Amino acid sequence: MRLSFSARLYQMRHLILSFVVLSILLLAFCTTATLISTGPLNPASPSPSDDWCRTGQSCFPNVNIFDAFNRSVNGRLFAERPLAAVCYRESCRKYGLSALSGPFRADHFSSYQYAGWESCSDTPCVATTITNGSCDQGNVPNYSVHAQDAEDVRRYVQFATAHKLRIVVKNTGHDLSGRSIGYGGVAVWTHKLKNIQLHERFVPKGCSEVYEGAMTLGSGVQWVEAYTFAHNHSRYIVGGLATSVGSAGGYVMGGGHSLLTPSFGLGADNLISMDIVTADGVLRAISQCHHSDLFWAVRGGGGGTWGVVTSATYRTRAASSIHVASFTVSLDFTSWAFKEILASFVKIQPRLSELGVGGATTLTPGSLQALLLLPSSQGNLTQLRESLRPLTQLMTQYGILTPDMNLTADGQPIYREYSDWYNFYVPNFGTSSDAIMGGTGGTASRILPAHYFIDGPTNLTDVIYSALDEKMRANDYYPVIIGHAGPGQVKEIQTSVNPIWYKSLWHVVSSESFVKRLRDYTPDGAVYFGESSLTEPNHTKAYWGENYERLLQVKRRWDPENHFQVWHGVGAAQDSSDRWKCYSRQM
Ligand SMILES: Cc1cc2nc3c(=O)[nH]c(=O)nc-3n(C[C@H](O)[C@H](O)[C@H](O)COP(=O)(O)OP(=O)(O)OC[C@H]3O[C@@H](n4cnc5c(N)ncnc54)[C@H](O)[C@@H]3O)c2cc1C
Repeated sequence: MRLSFSARLYQMRHLILSFVVLSILLLAFCTTATLISTGPLNPASPSPSDDWCRTGQSCFPNVNIFDAFNRSVNGRLFAERPLAAVCYRESCRKYGLSALSGPFRADHFSSYQYAGWESCSDTPCVATTITNGSCDQGNVPNYSVHAQDAEDVRRYVQFATAHKLRIVVKNTGHDLSGRSIGYGGVAVWTHKLKNIQLHERFVPKGCSEVYEGAMTLGSGVQWVEAYTFAHNHSRYIVGGLATSVGSAGGYVMGGGHSLLTPSFGLGADNLISMDIVTADGVLRAISQCHHSDLFWAVRGGGGGTWGVVTSATYRTRAASSIHVASFTVSLDFTSWAFKEILASFVKIQPRLSELGVGGATTLTPGSLQALLLLPSSQGNLTQLRESLRPLTQLMTQYGILTPDMNLTADGQPIYREYSDWYNFYVPNFGTSSDAIMGGTGGTASRILPAHYFIDGPTNLTDVIYSALDEKMRANDYYPVIIGHAGPGQVKEIQTSVNPIWYKSLWHVVSSESFVKRLRDYTPDGAVYFGESSLTEPNHTKAYWGENYERLLQVKRRWDPENHFQVWHGVGAAQDSSDRWKCYSRQM
């Protein structure tokens, strides 16, 4: 069958999304299994092991106090029920399938991208089940402020800290580890902070350096909105793949990778200023030159931990064209050809990284589907071709490409040029977040240091091949998604992510059993906080490495009473804390 270039890109995108959907299905299955095996909740639940005040306790503010608070935030405080609770009162048909789409979920406070996070009992609210029964509040916070400006956020933080409430900061609800949800909590929703501004000249607070064309994004701005705005001003900005992920919340605070990371660094490398309401209820502009310790911490130390961000300012670049290479190898897994091609693919990675080639590759036993990008400001098409030559030569030998190494055997070009990032992104990924979401998104991942590719490409290939083999034998259909996401071109590291990331080439996402093989093989590897396993062993070392102690010090300085806590975040309560009781259902 002949596939056009865009059809192949579509197929690629589809595969990436299939990984999301597949993981959801698998995890939904696992969740169901857990629900059956754990039985009903113990009605005499243990007393909280860390100090916070939740609904039902005498310390929880009464209705008069909430009324006054509601007036102070101009009526933007809402009592919340899980979105699907409506199905237990009236038909949920009015929500139809849209209740399952990513953007729809992001647009409603009480629904999350991975609906599994909303449950905490045997009777969760389920959007697709029409029933006359009842369903529980589950893990969804009881109240939330739908903030429309920084003042709402400031009042929220003052109120929540004064009453020792469980603080929950929600933006799009994409977090794969349930870090924007929390039972018994009172939340702030930053989704409506949608202002965007382009600055001809921007000077971060306290600094003298001038950034031309910087963009300030309200913390509710989602990536597709940022890309569209930048494009309309002939600029582009480094951001995430899914349209509906937030541009200024968990993405950038976890580090944030992009298809452009090998050329321009992580999202956090491109952040030049942030406005944040800290635990003392003060709105602060922070930068490399003003409260630099906090600014360092928010660039990798994780969302929901340092305060509530109201806006983020990024550097941008003048729009320029992008070279793209896209190809698929589909062979018998046990054939010599597949292993040889895999080995060649592994071997060329250091060169790709040196040049600044980013992208994503999907690997399954017997197939390798690659989408690789090189901004023209970094290199030309000849350089991209040359960096791929050892691989494309091999593919030609096996009849996958034509002798000129430019076309697939059925005549489709593997190289293409797009006039800019936006014109590449929108047709190919513009609706990618419309995937149906359910289950929980917890996934396993590993960042692989470059030296494994340089010093022992054959050994690394063997490990990957044998892990794929194991996967096949175990009927584990979760694909291996390789993010070519090593920010190797960054000269001066100014973020708090694990520094090993800067010496790495791949961010690999797959099933736990596959990732375990990589974890065992790369003890000096790292893990991306924003896409990781709920049970990542030695997680502080994996996420932050040598930076963790310093992050803890910054945390103690800016949030001495530890109001801001998320699962496995800096300074967060032990896993056994009552705060995390809903997690046992997701693991
Ligand atoms: C379909 C999909 C695609 C993805 N693609 C990418 C990708 O290409 N690159 C990448 O790096 N990651 C990607 N991710 C991971 C994503 O970056 C993380 O899930 C991230 O945490 C989402 O942040 P959010 O603010 O949009 O979501 P939320 O779930 O709302 O928030 C995530 C975390 O950030 C905190 N937070 C949110 N807003 C604020 C705020 N204003 N102030 C302080 N804390 C805040 C929350 O408390 C929570 O801890 C993807 C995830 C999904 C589900």
